[in-house]
Amino acid sequence: MTRFFIFLGPPGSGKGTQSDLLSKSQDIAFLSTGDMLRAQVASGSKVGQKAKTVMEAGQLVSDDIILEIIKAAVAQTVAPIICFDGFPRTHGQATQLDALLNDLGRSVEKTVYFDVSKETVVSRILGRQVCTNCKRPFHKTLRPSQKPDICDSCQSPLMSRDDDTQEVVEKRFDVYMAETQPLLSFYGDRVITVDASRPAQAIVDDLQQVFS
Ligand code: AMP
Repeated sequence: MTRFFIFLGPPGSGKGTQSDLLSKSQDIAFLSTGDMLRAQVASGSKVGQKAKTVMEAGQLVSDDIILEIIKAAVAQTVAPIICFDGFPRTHGQATQLDALLNDLGRSVEKTVYFDVSKETVVSRILGRQVCTNCKRPFHKTLRPSQKPDICDSCQSPLMSRDDDTQEVVEKRFDVYMAETQPLLSFYGDRVITVDASRPAQAIVDDLQQVFS
């Protein structure tokens, strides 16, 4: 029976970095709606065309689109543990996720809350890079690749995301506070709070326990 978890926290709180580190040692499928949307944008699909401007403005893509891509991803994923990264982001998404899991006879086991200040996330995001091929995350100063602007894993070029600018990052943080942070009370005693201002390796050690 698949176990379901959620990574919840503002943009730049380290969810993607932890997904990358944990997937090396644990059999966990991380489903990032941000990554799925960026793939749709890159492919030029109808969904991608709709999502592009919304993402560039730091706003949220509609719940209907998100639920459609999540349903397809869950149906295709075979893993003992599925962890959602960047989903759910609204109360509507959370209730629809409950309904989806209920149909499978499952529920969300734990929600990991990445607790970090706005100042920290803005400074982290502004140096962030991602591999154009395998999507592995790096940071120019905090987690640099061995060769500048080249992925350590697949040797493809690294890039900065279009929505990683100061203005859009601040907007995304404010949208997060308004729409997503309230989900902490929705998940109540299933929330595990981690101090996400610490270095990535300290956090990954804590998270190993959560999934064990
Ligand atoms: P992320 O990579 O998680 O920071 O997501 C990048 C952008 O994709 C967000 O700023 C939103 O525009 C969009 N997005 C990702 N996940 C969701 C979601 N669950 N609901 C609505 N919009 C999303």
